[in-house]
Amino acid sequence: MSSKNQLIFLEAPLYGGLEEHIVSRGHRCLYCYGEGGFLGDRSSPNDSEWKICPVCEGSGKMDAEVTIKWKPSKTEKK
Ligand SMILES: [Zn+2]
Repeated sequence: MSSKNQLIFLEAPLYGGLEEHIVSRGHRCLYCYGEGGFLGDRSSPNDSEWKICPVCEGSGKMDAEVTIKWKPSKTEKK
């Protein structure tokens, strides 16, 4: 599905209680196949006007924002 694959390696933060934000940019928009738009409307085939992709807003690319929340483990100690 993705044309660009990235892995996130999880490592607990030194001071705990943190939220991490990871941004992964430049993933190809699947709605317009990276073109930033398409000719015509899918519901009216005779329309030949260039339409800006509503998903990527014409950029052809999407950014992924991943938020990781760290919290103390609740596993009981024995
Ligand atoms: Zn798009």
